[in-house]
Amino acid sequence: MRLLLLAPPGAGKGTQGERLADWSGARHIAAGDLLRAQARAGGALGQQITAYQARGDLVPDQIVLDVLTPVVVEAAAEGGYILDGFPRTLPQATAAAELAARLGVTLDAAIYLYAPEAVLTRRLLDRASQGGRSDDKADVIRHRLQVFAETTGLLVPYYTERGILVAVDADQPPDSVTADIQSRLSGLSLPGGAHL
Ligand code: AMP
Repeated sequence: MRLLLLAPPGAGKGTQGERLADWSGARHIAAGDLLRAQARAGGALGQQITAYQARGDLVPDQIVLDVLTPVVVEAAAEGGYILDGFPRTLPQATAAAELAARLGVTLDAAIYLYAPEAVLTRRLLDRASQGGRSDDKADVIRHRLQVFAETTGLLVPYYTERGILVAVDADQPPDSVTADIQSRLSGLSLPGGAHL
């Protein structure tokens, strides 16, 4: 199975990505985690990534593609992938589509997890109060939500036009969200027909 999860921060894409990977046997590829690992590795590239992530800004497309492409290529040759947080911009989506075409694979669905902004903010602030991530701070959270609204959100119409968008209400307990995604996917005639 080849899916991507398109969701604002706090919608639960990490949790759902892991569950979908367990369920489908595809590899969970979390862009934020891979970039954080690259940041921890240090060097000039690591420092650059750290700075973008700390501000809640998107890491430049070319860096993201350099980090993600080899992982996606490997997963495509195995049991497929659940892309969590990639692509996040139109140029990334275009590059991902070209990569999929080159690999001869198609994307089954783009799952859009949506929830009201107040719910997302509350969840992220809760995560912050439990020791969360360094980008879980009120001002950075606000900025990350704004980046989603202005940039990543443009991928919702992009995948709708390609006929593979599956919108799921993420303002529910995690088990209900998982069940909704699985039932929506079961209703699709897989494999899908669109390159990323
Ligand atoms: P996440 O773990 O998905 O919430 O991502 C955390 C941070 O990593 C984001 O705020 C961005 O700084 C960076 N990031 C993750 N995925 C991408 C991407 N596809 N493009 C650019 N930046 C990304």
